[in-house]
Amino acid sequence: MSHVMNTYARQPVAFVRGEGVWLWDEAGKKYLDALAGIAVNTLGYGHPRLMRALADRLASGVLHTSNLWRIPMQEAAADRIAEITGLDEVFFCNSGLEANEAAIKVARKYGHERGIAEPAIIVMEKAFHGRSLATLSATGSRKVQAGFEPLVSGFVRVPLNDLDAVRQVAEHNRNVAAVMVEPIQGEGGINVARLDYLRGLKEICEREQWLFISDEVQCGLGRTGKWFVYQHAGFLPDVVPLAKGLGSGVPVGACVVGGRARGIFKPGNHGSTFGGNPLAMTAVVATLDAMKDEGLLANAERVGKLIREGIAQALGRASGVVEVRGMGLMIGVELTQPCGELVKQALDAGLVLNVTADNVIRLLPPLVMNEAEGREVVNRLVPLVKAFLEKRAAA
Ligand SMILES: *Cc1c(COP(=O)(O)O)cnc(C)c1O
Repeated sequence: MSHVMNTYARQPVAFVRGEGVWLWDEAGKKYLDALAGIAVNTLGYGHPRLMRALADRLASGVLHTSNLWRIPMQEAAADRIAEITGLDEVFFCNSGLEANEAAIKVARKYGHERGIAEPAIIVMEKAFHGRSLATLSATGSRKVQAGFEPLVSGFVRVPLNDLDAVRQVAEHNRNVAAVMVEPIQGEGGINVARLDYLRGLKEICEREQWLFISDEVQCGLGRTGKWFVYQHAGFLPDVVPLAKGLGSGVPVGACVVGGRARGIFKPGNHGSTFGGNPLAMTAVVATLDAMKDEGLLANAERVGKLIREGIAQALGRASGVVEVRGMGLMIGVELTQPCGELVKQALDAGLVLNVTADNVIRLLPPLVMNEAEGREVVNRLVPLVKAFLEKRAAA
């Protein structure tokens, strides 16, 4: 019996080698990766620039020093993140939930500074923000919350893409200090916030002087063809939590702030022992520099479109398929029925993917995927889905 705690329903496969968008298991079987370790492995596997930077870091002998001292690589990473986000200050942590936890603390402190005794944050149905007590309370999924009550208070939930619901809260609740939204809900099923909705939300935030928190832990960092989804909508949020793809496999998170959220945290307000250590920062700098130099944003848009259109052409009108949706290399295929068994069937066919929200096939390939590999994702996925739908229709 394994001593690893039983918190995941794992497939019995172990990937032990990787190159580009390809993985090999212990038996030597080769797989095409359309998941990137859940939007983490931005540069795929064995990327020379990242591997070299990490090897140099190891050779220096210094993986960690602590935030008691200056960390030049942290300053370099923060400069780059400020440049691509258009914001001002970066707090480094180690995961997505920590980035969101920092964002929630920023919002509460901002509220207190405005004289709100019990600041509240508007959050969305079906959102996922993490599994700490505060972030699971912000999450819009009973499955994530059940068994961990009492929840952290101070969250007001509304449906996504419903501005009237937000206006209603604005009218009746004077405690609101911020809105927190995942512009494309990842765990919730690749639910895309309309750009006009995001702009409307931003307008309300301006009028009410609320912080706009854009949780781009999964959808951000180039995956949609721009660095961040809010850039498609053409405005700047106040707080942007990041993690997943930021270190291309090395654990790292960041809470980026600007606008009204700038200067809210002062020495002593927040911290993390590991946050921003030289190892993680080396990965961030190498990842962002490689993305820029290799044009991976444009690549994500081009290859994502090819995959989406390929799937839509083959399956879009099939009965049993609700919708093919997403942006860039963040793609969801919603079926009318639960389809978790497709994960195993895809593995058998040499394709790594995920199913979320029970009935949504989720694709989050490495951003280095080329067009031929994108076509191969379609070629491997389509027959699987067709067979699945036929079997279900016959049953
Ligand atoms: C994954 C995810 C998180 C949580 O990240 P962890 O690193 O697992 O804590 C938070 N928000 C979004 C949008 C995510 O996709």
